[in-house]
Amino acid sequence: MNKVMGGEMVERKVDVLIVGGGVGGLTLAQWLTGLGRSWLIVEQAAVLGGPLANSDYILKWIPGQAEISGRDYLAAMVAQIDAAHCARATQLSAVAVDADVGQGEFVCTLSHGDVIHAKKMVFACGATPFSPFPESARVIVGPGLQKIAHIAAGQRVAVLGGGDNAADHALILAEMGVAVTMLVRGQLRTSAALLQQIRQQPMILICTDCQELVLSTNATGVQVQGEHYDYAVVYFGYQASPQLQAFPVLKTAAGALRDGVFAIGDMTQPEFPNILLTQGQAAVVAKQIDAQLSQRAK
Ligand SMILES: Cc1cc2nc3c(=O)[nH]c(=O)nc-3n(C[C@H](O)[C@H](O)[C@H](O)COP(=O)(O)OP(=O)(O)OC[C@H]3O[C@@H](n4cnc5c(N)ncnc54)[C@H](O)[C@@H]3O)c2cc1C
Repeated sequence: MNKVMGGEMVERKVDVLIVGGGVGGLTLAQWLTGLGRSWLIVEQAAVLGGPLANSDYILKWIPGQAEISGRDYLAAMVAQIDAAHCARATQLSAVAVDADVGQGEFVCTLSHGDVIHAKKMVFACGATPFSPFPESARVIVGPGLQKIAHIAAGQRVAVLGGGDNAADHALILAEMGVAVTMLVRGQLRTSAALLQQIRQQPMILICTDCQELVLSTNATGVQVQGEHYDYAVVYFGYQASPQLQAFPVLKTAAGALRDGVFAIGDMTQPEFPNILLTQGQAAVVAKQIDAQLSQRAK
């Protein structure tokens, strides 16, 4: 590490700069550590772990991990990460990236002024929930049990969306004693087990084939398709983080990622985003990077 006199700016050299410290970034860091490669995670949030680190939601389909919450799963991962390798807790993000082709490295200026020289860059910035309706006190966008925890028994909620997240949260709300109407533009896309549960739940009314969903808010709640609800919760899927678009230098003229730049996890817009896929991609990219760096050292 090269500390510049005056104390403001630090220069570091690492094999890999990882942008995003969620499931993908943390998994990648662990693999790189095992392979003997140096890395630094840049995380924009105050804590590592990504959205799952704040979720008491019980994770599904993680072999060997029945009944574990996102919070506990991520806490275990964060505990294994060496904090000295994380530029975090100060809402950092990369603000400038230059590719020094001659030196075969990327020069990244972080938002607090530090400069990182990295041989490879991996983007693991995840995705954000998509909604055509702005989030407000009455319009809740995307999953997160804490977002719906204040809704009380007896209230009416419109759940907009027909995927697993929508069905899952409709069930949770119904179990809280909330009257739920699921409004789906086309047909339900939930998995068979959830479909059976929502159909059997008397607190859930399902309306499919809704044409364009029209929503307006007022002081006491929301109007959806002319009906009054206390809240609307929107589960329209996700859009990949736009972070890579901020640095055109990381792409070729044809729009592909340039050599030495990788993306993993929800940023790759997989058809079915999930933890195992993200962790698998992280493992593959770590091995690819290790092989490329070994080749370069010859
Ligand atoms: C509530 C919820 C429940 C889920 N349940 C399951 C489940 O049961 N089973 C399952 O397999 N999958 C589940 N998923 C999906 C799974 O969480 C994702 O597929 C996985 O987290 C993707 O990992 P990621 O690393 O790509 O992104 P994330 O985990 O979203 O991490 C992205 C990280 O990048 C950071 N970041 C973003 N932009 C920047 C920037 N510019 N600079 C620095 N840092 C940045 C973010 O702050 C975040 O920490 C769930 C997701 C949610 C939200």
